[in-house]
Order: sequence, then C-alpha cells, then structure tokens
Amino acid sequence: MINKQKEQLKELLRIHFQYGSFRPGQEKAIDNILEKKNTLVVLPTGAGKSLIYQLSALVLEGITMVISPLIALMKDQVDSLEKVGIPATFINSSISPQETAKRLVQIKSGFYKIVYIAPERFYNQAFITELKKIKVSLFAVDEAHCISQWGHDFRPSYLRLKEAIKFVGSPVVIALTATATPEVRDDIIKQLELKDPEVVITGFARPNLQFAVVPAANGKKIESIVDLLTSDAALGSGIIYVGTRSKADELVEVLTDHGIKAVVYHAGMDAESRNWVQEKFMTGDAQVVVATNAFGLGINKKDIRFVIHHDLPGTIEAYYQEAGRAGRDGQPSFCLLFYHQQDRYLREFFIKGDNPDPNIILEIYDFLLRRVSLEIDESASILLTYAEIAQSLSESVPEMAIGTALKILEKEGYISRPKEKTSNSFLKAKKDWLEIMASISKRAKSQMEIAEKLGERYLSELMTGWDFNPEEVAIVLKVKKDALLRVVKKLAEKDLVEYRPPFRGTEIKILKIVEPGDVNLDYKGLKAKAARAYEKLDEMESYVYQLGCRQEYILKYFGDENARPCGRCDNCLKMNQIKARGGEDYTKKEYLSC
Ligand code: ADP
Ligand code: MG
Repeated sequence: MINKQKEQLKELLRIHFQYGSFRPGQEKAIDNILEKKNTLVVLPTGAGKSLIYQLSALVLEGITMVISPLIALMKDQVDSLEKVGIPATFINSSISPQETAKRLVQIKSGFYKIVYIAPERFYNQAFITELKKIKVSLFAVDEAHCISQWGHDFRPSYLRLKEAIKFVGSPVVIALTATATPEVRDDIIKQLELKDPEVVITGFARPNLQFAVVPAANGKKIESIVDLLTSDAALGSGIIYVGTRSKADELVEVLTDHGIKAVVYHAGMDAESRNWVQEKFMTGDAQVVVATNAFGLGINKKDIRFVIHHDLPGTIEAYYQEAGRAGRDGQPSFCLLFYHQQDRYLREFFIKGDNPDPNIILEIYDFLLRRVSLEIDESASILLTYAEIAQSLSESVPEMAIGTALKILEKEGYISRPKEKTSNSFLKAKKDWLEIMASISKRAKSQMEIAEKLGERYLSELMTGWDFNPEEVAIVLKVKKDALLRVVKKLAEKDLVEYRPPFRGTEIKILKIVEPGDVNLDYKGLKAKAARAYEKLDEMESYVYQLGCRQEYILKYFGDENARPCGRCDNCLKMNQIKARGGEDYTKKEYLSC
C-alpha cells in the first residue's frame, strides 16, 4: 500500500476511533481489503477484529455488509458507530417487516456505510431479491467459524452465505474468527468459496507460558507429579488433567495423602459437587483441581500457575486450550505434559470408541433384527447389554464403540432407545497382593504374569478398590482383555478379590426394518471423521517428539507462519545451552545428551 493511503488510514483511526496505532494484524487485513484480496482473519477474542471492516468501510465506496450471528449485540454496535460518525444500521428478527422494508429503501439510496445482517435473513427469497439492487463493496462474515461443522458453534444458515455473496455482486470478502484450527479455517474458505484467499493470523502466542514435556516411566507418573508438587511450597494453584475419571479419583487421593489440598472434577459427578469443587478452586481453598477435560469452560481464574497433563491429549487444539488456562494474568506459568510411549493406546482406545467401523454398525443392526425376530411382538423393545451385543460380533470391539454405533443407528432413524442402563464394575483385593500371587499355581505362567503386571501397575487401586474398566486396563498392561478377565474371575472364585462386573445395557426398539446392506449411513463422513481423529493424534504426538520450540510448533500448527521460538520452553532452553557451549546448530544426538 502506498504511504499516502497508510497515512490516511491512521488519520481515520484517530478521528473516528481515537486510537493512536493499529493492533497486530489489523493493518495487514485492511491492506488486503483495499487491494481487493479475499481474506480470512484469525485473531484471538478481544484483538480488535471489528475495526478491520469498520475502518475499511469508511474508505470504500458503497456499502459494507456485515454478517453476524450475535443479533443481541447489533443494536449496540450500530449505536456506537453512529456516535463516532459512521452511519450504520442493522436488519434482524428483532425489527418488523415494515421497518425492514424502510431500512432497505434507505440502504439502497446510500444512507449507510455499514449494514449488519443476521444470517437467517438469507432464507427469505424476497429479501435476497432486494439485495440484488444494492451495491456492496465489502462483504464481512463475522464469527466465520459458524460455517464449519467441525467448529463449536455450527449455524446452518451460514451455508447460505456463498449464494448471498453472489447476489450482492461478488464483492471482496473478509471472514473473521477467533477459532485458529486449520480444519475450521479450510472449511471457512471452502464453504464461502473464497478465491485465492489470504490468511492473516497472529496473536495466539502466550509469552508467559513455559512449555515442557516430561518423559515418565510406566506407572511412575503420579510419583513424579507428587514430587513436583511437594518440592515447591510456593507453587501456586494449578490444574492436573487426566484421561479418565478413575484416574482422577485415584490421583486426588494420592495428592491428599501427601498433604496437598486437591479436589476432583469430572462429568460423572453431580452438578452440586461440581459447583462446590469449582468454588473451592476459585477461592484458593483448594490448590489443585484434578480433572478430566470436562473442567475448564467458563473457568475465569486468572492466577493459575500451572497446568499439568497426566495423559496425552487427543489433539493440539485441546492441549493448547487446556494448557492455555494457565497464566491468564500474564505472570510466568508452566505447562507440563507427562509422557510415556504407551499413552497413545488410551487415546486410540477413545478414538475407536468414538468411531466404530461401518461394518460393525451393520453387524450390530443385523444382530438386532435377528434378536427382535425371536420376540412374539416384533414392535416390542428388547433389553440388551453391550456385552451381549459385543459377543455377537465377528471381531472384538470396545463397548464404547457399541454405544456409539447404537447412537448412529438411532440418529439415522433405524432404532430408538427409550432407556439406557449402566453401572460400573468394581475390583478390590481382599488380601495382600503378594499373598494373592502366591496362591496362583506356578505352572499357570500367563496368569502369573498378568497378576504380576496388575499388581505392579495398579497396587494402590487394588488395595482401595476401584471402578475397574477391563478394556482400559488391558490396554495399559498390554494384555488380552479376555485373559485379564479370566484371572480376575478366578481370583474372585477363590474369594481373593471382590469383583463386580459392569452392566452397560440399553433398551432398543427397531423403527425401520431393511436389509442390513441397504442401511443408509454416511460412510464417507464416518471414514473421514475417524481418519481425522488419527491424524490429529499423530500431530499431538509429534509435539512430544519436537526438537524445536514447543510454542512455535503449536503456533505453526495453527498456521501462524511468523511464530518464533519462545525462548523458555524445555527445548529452547536446551538449544540455548548448546549454543552457549559453542555449538552453532544442534543435532538430535547432542539434544538427547542434554
Ligand atoms: P474481537 O472481535 O476481535 O473479539 P473487538 O473488535 O470487539 O474484538 O475489539 C475489542 C476491543 O479492542 C474493542 O474495545 C475495540 O475498541 C478495541 N480496539 C480495537 N482496535 C484497537 C486499536 N487499534 N487500539 C486500541 N484498541 C482497539
Ligand atoms: Mg468480534
């Protein structure tokens, strides 16, 4: 952009908004608009995205049309624009048809520079026809992530925007969002059909956060966490994220035993207990909250000094969001990820549970049809446990996957489930574990091995008794679930352990009977969803094995090509050490020797 135009923009910034300078990303985005380049702007909340289209509107001839789902805010925005001398109006469901018609006439005669429009207006054919008569020079899509089904706030009405853009003469488009995931970003570009889009993305760096990965020996993570928390009395408050509810319950007990004021939070608790826990943590009564990913949204505690991950998160997005809850006050804070190679298995287990193979879904449907045909009244509902369903299948699948498969069949209208019934399993040793081991015959080698592994890894759980999930434990111990259950059942028969099997069942009614081969599922969508989940897990795992700056890796993952090394993560510190020793660059070998 030529200097004269730059000066003019700064002048307008001062006159209309009383700001002395642009914030990161704003000027570049406005440049793009003035050069007629379609642009996707990704800046964090509060970074000043609105100013980009508001200031551009002042320079452009004709009208800037702003699409926003936040209709409650439109009036305020318009009022404050009017106050600083920018003529603006809005059209949404809060105004009458007469008023809408009046405003449309005024818009056409050039009364306004900026017009806010709610996306659902584009369902109205008469309205769209009116739009054809308006000269629009900039089409701004605010909260643009609403167009993506992968985002957190999908609005089908946003899918109509690409048509709307054509109706108003295909002006330059600016899409704005604070959701920095590549997937959502690509989806915005695709769904709006943005041609040759430029992406402006900055401001997601968190310079006060110190990231590190801590390699942990199998079964030793809790010990390391306890060591860390007890070694520094002035640590401040923090969150420890764990992958499962049972792990959360276990960890909080150990921490409490070591005199650490810890509370636990997961979705299995009732609302009252969860509120109580949140309160304890917010007021500082509890130093640490041990939580599953259910904890965090809406937590507005600014002085969280650390976020520890006991288990590998499934995606970089989830990790950065959770870790990013540390240090909101800008003070130095740390984000530790404890890692062991086997961590991936728990995540894969969750992915498998979330994404059953389509063939399995069809097999389950087939099994349900056969079961129902045994009933006298085929329209009656049948009560089945997930285990019964699992047994009927040609390959072994986790029960969680059966739950998901039933959900999919329900969503597609093949079955309905009036009620779901579940209860957890329970396992507790009744004697000292060594004594129990001694009771196993020396010849039963594989039984011995499993019992040994179980004792090594889950001794404290076995002593207190816990919500034992055979599938999860089998994965962690790297043994077969059936073999594990055989050992547990044998020990229960000898009254050496107390074991209650889980009951996960459901009442099912068949709504549609078709050949299983004719069941109509979104196969492509299901496959794509599973593939994406694995890809994201791979990217999360590469974070662990990164040799370069950890924060830079995350920011680049989000597409910020200007990201630079943070200078304080474990890898940056190692790099600096090597450089201080005189090494120019560093090799993997050198790195590992640090
Ligand atoms: P976003 O939509 O990115 O979440 P907003 O557009 O609502 O953020 O702006 C957040 C705040 O930042 C507003 O109060 C706005 O006036 C202010 N702001 C925007 N640009 C600047 C700037 N260049 N200098 C100072 N404050 C700014
Ligand atoms: Mg905004």
